[in-house]
Parts: sequence; structure tokens; C-alpha cells
Amino acid sequence: MNQSIEERIQEVLFLQKSSLLRLKNSSANERIEKLQKLQNYMLSHQQELFDALYQDFRKPTSEVILAELLGVKREIDHMIKHIRSWMKPQKVTTPLLLLGTQGHIQYEPKGLCLIIAPWNYPFNLAINPLVHAIAAGNAIMLKPSELSEHTSSYIKKMITALYDPSDVFCVEGDAQVSTFLLAQKFDHIFFTGSPAIGKIVMAAAAKHLTSVTLELGGKSPAIIGPSVDMDSSVQKIAWGKYLNNGQTCIAPDYVFVHEKVHFQFLAGLENAINSFYNADSKGIENSGDYARIVNRRHFDRVVRLLDDAKEKGAKVIFGGELNPETNYISPTVLSQCTFDMAIMQEEIFGPILPVFTYRSEEEVIDYLSREEKPLALYVFSEDKVFTDFILKNTSSGSSVVNDCLIQFGHSSLPFGGVNNSGIGKSGGKFGFEEFSHFKAVLVQKTNFLRYFYPPYTLRTKWLIEQVLKWF
Ligand code: NAD
Repeated sequence: MNQSIEERIQEVLFLQKSSLLRLKNSSANERIEKLQKLQNYMLSHQQELFDALYQDFRKPTSEVILAELLGVKREIDHMIKHIRSWMKPQKVTTPLLLLGTQGHIQYEPKGLCLIIAPWNYPFNLAINPLVHAIAAGNAIMLKPSELSEHTSSYIKKMITALYDPSDVFCVEGDAQVSTFLLAQKFDHIFFTGSPAIGKIVMAAAAKHLTSVTLELGGKSPAIIGPSVDMDSSVQKIAWGKYLNNGQTCIAPDYVFVHEKVHFQFLAGLENAINSFYNADSKGIENSGDYARIVNRRHFDRVVRLLDDAKEKGAKVIFGGELNPETNYISPTVLSQCTFDMAIMQEEIFGPILPVFTYRSEEEVIDYLSREEKPLALYVFSEDKVFTDFILKNTSSGSSVVNDCLIQFGHSSLPFGGVNNSGIGKSGGKFGFEEFSHFKAVLVQKTNFLRYFYPPYTLRTKWLIEQVLKWF
């Protein structure tokens, strides 16, 4: 008899629940062995991953190495290096009033964890949280995105080869499968995806009071100051925007450029795009280094944003070429956009860059203060007063001065959003902690507090009053 996917999920959840105590008490060595197996597999099956990502959206191999494999490899190395010390009880100092006690924090696994991943970096964004969850000692149900189906099958094959389902299980499927998973009771849900689906995830988690990490998206601005190293800035913005065909959660979504350097910026950006994707003058569409939009639905969505902007008066400064048969949208730069255009009302998640000019930084702050807090904010300037002003007057998941995207690769910095762009953090120790419960353990070694017990005689009352005075 064929088992339905729902029945299989429930069967695996039953197995995973019964292995929680074993996993909780697993040693650092056992967890390291699991991580090492994962690393060995992915490094020895690289070609399969390159092929899968090429089939999904023509992701160039160099981008797979840089943005998918390298990040996961470094994260595994980081976990392996630190896991022993993180698993140890973390001693805390004792407050005077509780003298005679000894306290420590014990990180314990959250337990049964669900990881739901998106399609844009389908390997990295599924496996990085998995690495953190394994390091913290959890049982894990992982659901990759159905939109990157070849990478999803690669992940399924890898997890099946490496782990017992009672420890880690990969379930492939769409929103319907996700909805079924979300109706089950987990101890933690780690979701990466859009703010709209993030709200659905959080509402489902609330039914079981399950904790959540929501790694979401939004519109991340880049601000170019009047005093800037333009040659390097345009290259960094072109790289950050058009890598993965603009389908990067922390890509600069749009740019504010000071009016003094506006034309210099546009000319420099055009040069940078050509030098990246048209160095041999065979046309950007023929470049092997330029990915595609993931599917026709997303292609139509991005084209709708472009058409709406053009209809309402935006000017195409560069690009704008389309090929629906291959989901190709060339790197595009727009000027004369207005904030009421659809392109400024939703995350673009494609290779179109609206450019706005400004005269004073207050104008920029004024606009950003009215918008949702972005996942990332980039400032390009050689003037520290300018960058400090922007950083002090804005809020974002992360901020980078004079570069784009690189914050994702820093294992000592937390990665995540704020409000609409996310809840919770990942990366390095923050990832380990996200999948851990910080249990407070306090050991009493005296009987001193008995002097404060009832009945509250005059002497007891006097003592309690002294506590308020002196402690
Ligand atoms: P998405 O929200 O459409 O889908 C993400 C996951 O949710 C997929 O696995 C999908 O199957 C599942 N899902 C879809 N509909 C669902 C529903 N109704 N109920 C439950 N689950 C459902 O996001 P996406 O299109 O895969 O990814 C793009 C978005 O993700 C962008 O907004 C981007 O900014 C964001 N993102 C954020 C990060 C980050 O680290 N903060 C990283 C990558 C992408």
C-alpha cells in the first residue's frame, strides 16, 4: 500500500520525538561526526550540485561555489571548531543577595525543529540552518523549496544517504505540504522566505506557542554619498544587485544617489555591468555568468513591475531586454521613478535597479523612516560624518559601509532582519543559539534565605526592609 506524504511525515515525527532525549544527550563528537559527514558529501558531490542549480535557473558554477558551497563549508568548520566550548555550562556571576548559590546557563536543544527554505540560494539557505540545528542537538524536519526542484532532489538524496530519519528528514513539497507541516507541533520553526508567508508561519506557530526564526526579505536601500570612491562603488553595487539575477534577499533593491554624483554613478554602473557580463561583446544574454529568473511566474511578476514603472514615467537608462522563453531579463537601471510605483511598493527580487537622486541626507532619512525596516542597508561614502549620520538615523537587519552582501559571510556577526524583515538571528554562534534553549540552572548551597520566610515577625520585617535599602 502506498503511503501518503502526510502519513510519512507523521510517522517520521513520531520517530523523531522518541529520539529527542538521545539527541539532547549526544556528545560534541557525535554532532561533529554528523557535520563532517555532511561536509564530505557536499564536497565530493559538487558536480551534481552545479548541475542541479544550473537546471533550476542557470546559476553559474562560480556563484554556486561562492554563494552556496563556501558559506556552508565555513559554517560547518566554525561549528566544529566551537561546539565543544558552546556545549559546556556557561558560568555566571552570583548577585550578592543570592550569595551561596552557583548559577550557570546550559544550552539545550530546542527539540523537534522544522526548517522551511526558499529557492533563491536553495542549498545554502536549507543547509546552513540545518548545520546549526544539528550542532545544537535537535531532531530536524527540513523542507526545501519546490521552485528549485533539482536542488531540492539533490538535498533529499543527500539527507537520505547521510542520516536516519529519526535524526534528520527531508520532505519535498509545495505550500500544501508546508501547510500540513505547520499544523504539526514543533518546538521551533526556522523559516526563510517572504514576509507574506512569514506571517502565515508565525500565525501557525502561535497555535502551539512554538518559537520562530523568520528570515524574511524586503526593500534594502543603497545610499551613495556625495564624496565616494565611485569606481569601486559602482562595481560593488552591480555585483550585489545582479548576482543571482537580482534574486538575493540582501541585494540592494534601489539606490539613493547624491545629485552631485548622479551622472557619474549612472555612467559607472553601465560600465560595470558591461565589464561583468559583456566583456567579450557577445551580448549579456549569451554570458555564462548571468543567471535567470527562477520561473515564468516570477518573470511575469518582475516584468509587471517594469511595465508599471515605464507607464508611470520611469526612464530605462540601461537594459530592459526580455526573453520570456528563457526567463531572461537583462540588467536594468531605471531613473525618474516615483515612490507610488509598484516597483517601490514591493520587493523587486529581480535585476532591475531604480535610482533616485537626493539633495540632502535628511530627505533620505525622511523616506526611510516611513518605510518598513529593511533586511540590509548599504552606505557608500568616504565621509565618516555622512556614514555615521545615516547609520544613526536608520534601522535595518544589517548595515554595510562601502560594500554589499558580504555581511552574510561573517560568522561573528548576527544575520537577520528586524520586524518586517525578520525575527531572530542566524550565523555562527547566533545560529547555534537560535536552535538552543538557554536553560538557567541554579544550585543552592546554603539555607540562608530561611530568615526571610513567614511568619513575618518584627525581626523578619526589619531584615526585609534592610534588603531593600542595601541590595
Ligand atoms: P516564499 O515565502 O514564497 O517561500 C518560502 C518557503 O515557504 C518555500 O519552501 C515554500 O514552499 C513555502 N511556502 C510557500 N507558500 C506557503 C504557504 N502558504 N504556507 C506555508 N509555506 C509556504 O519565498 P521564496 O519565493 O522562496 O523566497 C523569496 C523571499 O525570501 C524573498 O522575500 C526574499 O527576500 C526572502 N529571503 C530571505 C532570506 C533571508 O535570509 N532573510 C534569504 C532568502 C530569501
